[in-house]
Amino acid sequence: MQMAHPNLPDFDYIRPDNLVEASQFLANHAGEARVFMGGTDTFVRMRDGAWNVKYLVDGKALEGTNQIQFDPAEGLTIGAAVNMNRVIVSPDVKNHYPLLAEAAHTVASYQLRTRATIVGNLCNASPAGDTTGACIAFGGTLQVHGLDGFRMEPLSAFFKGPGKTGLRLGDIVTAVKFPPPQKDSVGKYIKLGRNSIGDLAIVGTTVLGYPDNSSVSGYRFRIVLLSVAPVPLVSVHAEAILANKPVTLKAIEEAAQAAMDDCSPIDDIRGSARYRKYMVRNLTQKALLEVWQQINKAN
Ligand SMILES: Cc1cc2nc3c(=O)[nH]c(=O)nc-3n(C[C@H](O)[C@H](O)[C@H](O)COP(=O)(O)OP(=O)(O)OC[C@H]3O[C@@H](n4cnc5c(N)ncnc54)[C@H](O)[C@@H]3O)c2cc1C
Repeated sequence: MQMAHPNLPDFDYIRPDNLVEASQFLANHAGEARVFMGGTDTFVRMRDGAWNVKYLVDGKALEGTNQIQFDPAEGLTIGAAVNMNRVIVSPDVKNHYPLLAEAAHTVASYQLRTRATIVGNLCNASPAGDTTGACIAFGGTLQVHGLDGFRMEPLSAFFKGPGKTGLRLGDIVTAVKFPPPQKDSVGKYIKLGRNSIGDLAIVGTTVLGYPDNSSVSGYRFRIVLLSVAPVPLVSVHAEAILANKPVTLKAIEEAAQAAMDDCSPIDDIRGSARYRKYMVRNLTQKALLEVWQQINKAN
């Protein structure tokens, strides 16, 4: 077992002038350099000796990392350096992507959120990352700068395992982008933690629902479960049930059961696998009912 480090080990702080320089530096120092945004995950891992980092490459002054922008035709762009409190109070997020603000608001405390970023939450690739479900449900894509220039990485295929992503040597994410929101969409994030603030999720359930003429039921639900699989888990069976048959109380119960069957949690200090499975069923049902009631109220 690794001993906790009483202090931060020494490191060099690097502030590249542009993205090309940043990608080049990261590639030239593989295994010893990391992108540094809020640092809320990074410093803890360095202090505890879990990460051996010689260079922290600060991306907060690089082009495209600092703004939140919304365009009705293009959707929402959140720069990689934008902290969670800015996301939560953004009128564009509140009006068009309130589920994202709701999820971000469950992360730790106000103080931590002045540092922590949405993109950091995604790149850290914890299965418990509170904002990952909302980002997947809204169809998010990362804009990545690498050795070959820019590319887009859809979040649907980004997460490969705990702490593992589709990022390559020299990559730095500059922003996360979301398409325009579905008309009349309603979302709900329920986080079960050991206390009301400051703890990672034992289980997190993200639900986004909206009318959709292309499905048999006339509605589409995105259901993303956190802390119950090696990666944020889209419950494809639960989603299919609610797309392919009329949305009734019975169908919602069936979908919640399918979500429970889809997940594969582990036992850890925050909860047993069995407890997590049952909580997935109960919380998914609760979130679906709430979303469904609000959709009906609006129509
Ligand atoms: C006390 C405490 C409480 C916490 N509570 C919660 C909680 O309730 N819920 C939750 O989800 N998380 C929680 N966290 C974890 C953490 O705050 C979040 O994951 C946060 O969003 C990370 O963002 P950051 O900007 O600080 O990332 P950083 O620490 O800067 O980076 C995290 C990782 O992502 C990489 N990275 C960051 N940005 C980029 C980029 N632009 N391009 C490429 N790689 C990048 C870094 O190199 C590093 O590997 C907590 C942490 C602490 C210390």
